[in-house]
Amino acid sequence: MNFDHDEQQVLFRSAVREFVESEVAPNAAHWEEEERFPWEVWHHLADLGLCSLALPEEYGGGGSGKTMLCIATEELARASGGLSVAYLVSCGVAMDGICMHGTEQQKSNYIPRCSRGEIAYFALTEPEGGSDVATMRMRYRETAAGYELNGTKTFISNSEEASFGVVFATRDPSLGHRGVSAFVVERDTPGFSIGRRERKTGQHCSSTNEIIFDQCVVPKSALIGEEGEGLIIALESIDKSRVSVAAQALGIARSAYEEMVRYAQERHAFGKALAQLQAIQWMIADSATELEVSRLLTYRAAWLIDRGNLAVKESAMAKLYASEAAGRICHRAVQVFGGIGYTREASVERYARDQRITEIYEGTSEMQRWAIARQVLGMK
Ligand SMILES: Cc1cc2nc3c(=O)[nH]c(=O)nc-3n(C[C@H](O)[C@H](O)[C@H](O)COP(=O)(O)OP(=O)(O)OC[C@H]3O[C@@H](n4cnc5c(N)ncnc54)[C@H](O)[C@@H]3O)c2cc1C
Repeated sequence: MNFDHDEQQVLFRSAVREFVESEVAPNAAHWEEEERFPWEVWHHLADLGLCSLALPEEYGGGGSGKTMLCIATEELARASGGLSVAYLVSCGVAMDGICMHGTEQQKSNYIPRCSRGEIAYFALTEPEGGSDVATMRMRYRETAAGYELNGTKTFISNSEEASFGVVFATRDPSLGHRGVSAFVVERDTPGFSIGRRERKTGQHCSSTNEIIFDQCVVPKSALIGEEGEGLIIALESIDKSRVSVAAQALGIARSAYEEMVRYAQERHAFGKALAQLQAIQWMIADSATELEVSRLLTYRAAWLIDRGNLAVKESAMAKLYASEAAGRICHRAVQVFGGIGYTREASVERYARDQRITEIYEGTSEMQRWAIARQVLGMK
């Protein structure tokens, strides 16, 4: 099996890297301090075609597939974890349900808007639980005007920047997964409001808020797929998008690793460079190996998806491994930097903070292990 990048993908990676090095890397620490979303860079990113990259060509998208989306996500994450999550949510998981199950009207409206740089959110998690999504509390009911939504979603990425988003609600919690439906909701819909902004550990330039639906009435045309298909749409979207979080973790880990190698060669202790000390060499060797495994798992899963496979197990393996390996690599990078690694003088402390959430969102590590085991054991 050969899942190396082809020439187009190699060229694409170097173009994104050039953009990231000139516009993202020099400013990313600043955006974090200010907790500010970099709209100016986002608009440029859209102009370069990065927002439309993986969206279907017949609606104005780039039709480039998962490998390209992972390349873009990895390169963005190398400089800014926050910008990369805004990207993978808006141009990935939030659009997947619309692309796979949306009506013609939804596709021809939302795909061009996302391509032009409008931002989308994906609202599944509720205060009572994120892993056990079938126990959803947020309700909807059919009215003469459409569907009335009532409830609260929590930890929603992009909520402050988004102009629309995909929201999941149940007709009746006692129906379990069969009661859940998916809706696309415009930001200016009466009854929609943005609640508390979370005070997070990292990825500060990306907003994460509660969103509140209070007698929020959307038209009938807002329903995605059929009533009762919502949970399938949510899980398919996450299955398809999960590998992007692996790519994000890979990008953050690469930066931490590169910084660790550079610093180990520059910094001296006991009359020699840190890189001459075996304890440090082992940290570098383990990190290089884990980075390589993360890369292979991530791009293998993307390669399979681009060939029409669901790759549920492979994506879960990639996300599980790459996110946990990124944790170990960031931890070592801080260690190699010593005291300065624990200060904002060094970017490795930011990478360590940005990495942590990759083990939690779009399914925790425990949920990935569960998904892998179910596939291995052939369980429904
Ligand atoms: C910065 C950030 C951004 C986010 N963005 C979004 C977003 O855009 N959209 C969205 O919908 N959500 C988003 N989330 C929510 C995120 O997906 C959830 O936090 C995550 O799915 C975990 O859910 P929870 O926090 O409710 O934890 P819980 O589900 O309460 O889990 C708590 C712990 O118990 C473990 N656990 C639970 N069930 C089991 C089990 N059966 N077996 C073993 N262990 C188990 C979990 O793995 C975890 O360790 C975001 C969260 C954060 C922090």
